[in-house]
Amino acid sequence: MQKGKIFVVGFGPGDRDHITKRAVDALQQSDHIMGYKTYVELIRHLVTAKTIVSTGMTEEVSRAQQAVKQAEAGNIVSVISSGDSGVYGMAGLVYEVLIEKGWTEATGIEVEVVPGISAINSCASLLGAPVMHDSCTISLSDHLTPWTVIEKRIEAAAMADFVIAFYNPKSGRRTRQIVEAQQILLKYRSSETPVGLVKSAYRENQNIVLTNLAEMLEHDIGMLTTVVVGNSSTFFYDNKIITPRGYQRKYTLGEEKQIWKPHQRLKKEAEPWALDQETGVAKSGFERIEPIKKNLINNQSVKTAGIATLETNLKSQSKFEQTQNNISSLEMARMALACITKEPVKSEFLVQQSIESIFEFAISPGVANKVITPKQMQVIAEIVGENGTFEYTPDHRFYVKIPTENPEFIVNRLRETGLYVLPIGDVLNVKACDFCNGEKADSIPYAEEIMDSLGGMKLPKELHVGFNGCGMACYRAVFDDIGIVYRKKKFDLFIGSKPVGRTAHAAQPVAEGIAPDALIPLLTKIIEEYKQNAHPNERLFKYFKRVKKIGQFEYQDMSCKIKIEEAPCGD
Ligand code: SAH
Repeated sequence: MQKGKIFVVGFGPGDRDHITKRAVDALQQSDHIMGYKTYVELIRHLVTAKTIVSTGMTEEVSRAQQAVKQAEAGNIVSVISSGDSGVYGMAGLVYEVLIEKGWTEATGIEVEVVPGISAINSCASLLGAPVMHDSCTISLSDHLTPWTVIEKRIEAAAMADFVIAFYNPKSGRRTRQIVEAQQILLKYRSSETPVGLVKSAYRENQNIVLTNLAEMLEHDIGMLTTVVVGNSSTFFYDNKIITPRGYQRKYTLGEEKQIWKPHQRLKKEAEPWALDQETGVAKSGFERIEPIKKNLINNQSVKTAGIATLETNLKSQSKFEQTQNNISSLEMARMALACITKEPVKSEFLVQQSIESIFEFAISPGVANKVITPKQMQVIAEIVGENGTFEYTPDHRFYVKIPTENPEFIVNRLRETGLYVLPIGDVLNVKACDFCNGEKADSIPYAEEIMDSLGGMKLPKELHVGFNGCGMACYRAVFDDIGIVYRKKKFDLFIGSKPVGRTAHAAQPVAEGIAPDALIPLLTKIIEEYKQNAHPNERLFKYFKRVKKIGQFEYQDMSCKIKIEEAPCGD
């Protein structure tokens, strides 16, 4: 007799487009299909099986037994689950029935588990990208699992900052579980943590709600809902829930982006939080989560708080302290307070780190002014502190990097003392001279106006406008991307130096004697043209060389084509 086969098929969330080809093939090859009524209806139109057996929700075991029996009689049988059959589905159950009968792969019927898109994935796709980082699924059904175990898993996942997808969150009779789950989560995560409720993903009655941890229970949650809870760095954006992928974010003024370029990312210094491969130590400042601290507050104490519970907690606390001694009295006080007020324990000492933001910017004392006052130095020292860095750059500015969650405060504090706080990166920067310490001050207002109107403008590549107040041009404006030299109450203009590299060259003089009123409109026109038309990362000199004309100015080759002798060989 021909050996039978069981397919355990996950058919995805429910619509035709999200079933795999293998799942459809399996269903179409099958003599018998078995599944829960609702699911059978979802796939009925796809199949030609001889018999389709739909059973009730709680009849999984007999369904699996029947499937095995049919396969042993030489039939091809599909047992179906929604989503993935290995995620709270039929796969494990089919194997359990087989194992009980002494089945082995070599001697028994053939078994194929056909994977499907599980609710965590289908629901996540409808919410945006909430899963992205380490995540877990927790079923709140305590029909087959003791609630105490489920509670522990929620606690562990909450503590370890997992994104969590709750399956089976609520049914007619089980309404309390999701309330308990919320309470546990609130001990570790902010009440504003994004939560997505997806009901019947990719089915007719699909419904999506974006809410947060505090308010999630005000919405309809049922048997067909998956509840996705973000981690401590998940955020809302444009009706979506997004969990960022990495740990560190960079703020610059006016933009936010990943701090490291792709080739820099895997270096040790780019990942100060990683486990050191030689010492096995995670760098300090990124402390490991101490689960032991949590032992002191169990869910019960927060729920039924009162003096008696508090005393019990404090007793166990002191016992604990005798051995571990690593909980500060402040933490202990907070825990005590939480027991009395029934308020969820505040996250400061329980929760994992959230994403750290590195704020990067430049400081300068002014456009013309090069002198920093003692007061300004004090404020800089206070702001940069132990964790920031303060670096002098070739373009006459200080480059500052500070881990912070509050860039606005930093900017305001520095600006209050009269410092210029400037963006870095691919932006326009004005590099003026010191106007002979103010002796040749006539043109300073023009330099300041350029800074005010164009400084910080986002461009395809960094661009320095050099501005020098006399014909000596001793701050070397002609070696900047755009050079402006004030001479005889008018301006000379230079465009397209190659400021770096072994083939560096000065900029091309394009115009002399520009009237003061015409300077800024002309400059704006050139920069706008470059901004609109240059390729990303194309520096001004390259752009000028490629297009051969900016504004009315024709390109001339300023690079010296000197023949370089080969280095002589030694004897
Ligand atoms: N095997 C399935 C899970 C079965 S448990 C899978 O991998 O997806 C049943 C639970 O799954 C439901 O209570 C609900 O939480 C979730 N679920 C299944 N299909 C869903 C859908 N289309 N939309 C939202 N949640 C769904």
